[in-house]
Parts: sequence; structure tokens; C-alpha cells
Amino acid sequence: MSQPIVKEPWEIDLMRQAGRIVARGLALLQERVRPGVSTADLDAAFEKHVRDSGAIPTFKGYRGFPASICASVNEEVVHGIPSHNRVLEEGDIIGIDAGATFKGYVGDAAVTVGVGKISEKAQKLIDATRQSLEEAIKVVRPKARISHIGAAVQKYAESRGYGVVRQFVGHGIGKDMHEDPQVPNYVDGLDPSRYDYTLKPGIVIAIEPMLNEGTFEVMTLKDRWTVVTMDRKLSAHFEHTVAVTPDGHEVLTRV
Ligand code: MG
Repeated sequence: MSQPIVKEPWEIDLMRQAGRIVARGLALLQERVRPGVSTADLDAAFEKHVRDSGAIPTFKGYRGFPASICASVNEEVVHGIPSHNRVLEEGDIIGIDAGATFKGYVGDAAVTVGVGKISEKAQKLIDATRQSLEEAIKVVRPKARISHIGAAVQKYAESRGYGVVRQFVGHGIGKDMHEDPQVPNYVDGLDPSRYDYTLKPGIVIAIEPMLNEGTFEVMTLKDRWTVVTMDRKLSAHFEHTVAVTPDGHEVLTRV
């Protein structure tokens, strides 16, 4: 396994700027989410915000992805493709994952929000997923290990009865959206010698738990992008880009 790239302070400064652009964009979209809005409308609003901020929407064209955000509704876990035909309805939940590249450096973050009034079980899933990310962020500091992150997410999620997606994981981030190391949201069955780096200042990672109401198992639809839960129950996703600092961490994608 190749070593994570340690960033210089000036690089983290650019990533902080990229991260803020993403955070503001996601805040903007959260205000727009309501019944009758299409996922393509959200995509267009994010792309405009990013370009107006002097940045580039990282996702657009990434491995052929056609849009600036991933918009994943209800049983969709990640990588939903925005569409004019996908109009949000009262009671839906939508995961919005988005990235911006500023002066060559990437910020990546995701939120899940309810559309209008949502069910109590949907709200609980969203809250637990958001909190599982916070639990993971808390353990990030020099000398902590990547496995501490997965352990924190898995413990928090499974003790509440949720499935933790295994097929998709967090990642190192910098000039590229996906760098080493991989950051799994679970620890069961993983061989620590293959992934368990010790964190040090200057490492930047995107932590992104995906929690399912039911089974952790997922599948990819025929569009070759959209990932859905195997049992078609709800899924939620939150993500932050987090830098390891000398005395702990800094979340780069908070507003
Ligand atoms: Mg990511």
C-alpha cells in the first residue's frame, strides 16, 4: 500500500478555501430542497455557485460522471445522477455529495436532508448518520489510526440497528479527489496490515459514513452509477474533508 500524501500548510490553506466553497454550496442547496424541485435544478445551482466562486465542480466529468453533484434519493446510497425527471416529493430524503477544486486542490462533502415533512424513522436515520460522522471526526488526531475511524462509525451505527455500507469508503484527498489511504467505515473482517495507517499532521482525509435502515448490502443500477440498498430501504450519507493538525484536526468543509 502506498503512503498517504502529507500536505504542506499552504496546501491545506487552499483545501480550506475549496472546502468552504463546497460547504457554502451545500448550505445553499439545503435551502432549495423542497417538493417540486428537481435534482437537476440542485445540480445547476451548485455548479453556478462553484464557478462564481472561482472554482471548478470536481465531480463533473470525473470518470465520466455527467454532473456537479451526486443526488441520491431515498434507497439510493450514493452516486445518483441529477435529472430533470427526478422531482423531489414530500417525505423523500436526499443525499447530496459535492466537490469543488480551487487552485488545484479539492474539497469534498455530503449531507442528507429531508424534503418537506419526513417520517420519524427517516429523521432518525439522518440524525444517526450525521452523528456517526461526528463520532468519527472526534478520533482524528496525530497517532490515531485509520481503523479508529471505522470502529467509531460502526459502533455508533450498529448499536442503533443500522447497517454500515462496506462497498464504498472514505479516502485521502488533495490534488486528487481520491488519494490513499482508504478510510473504511467499519473494521470487521479487515486486515489492519493492509490499510491501517497511523495519522500524522498534514494528512487530509474525507470521512463519509453511509448508513442503511436495513442491510448494509448495496448494488449498482444499470446506469452504472446509482448505488441502491439491496433491500430498497432508506440510506443516508454525510461527509467532511478533515485535516490532521498537530493538536487534533480541522474540518475543512464547515461553513
Ligand atoms: Mg468522498
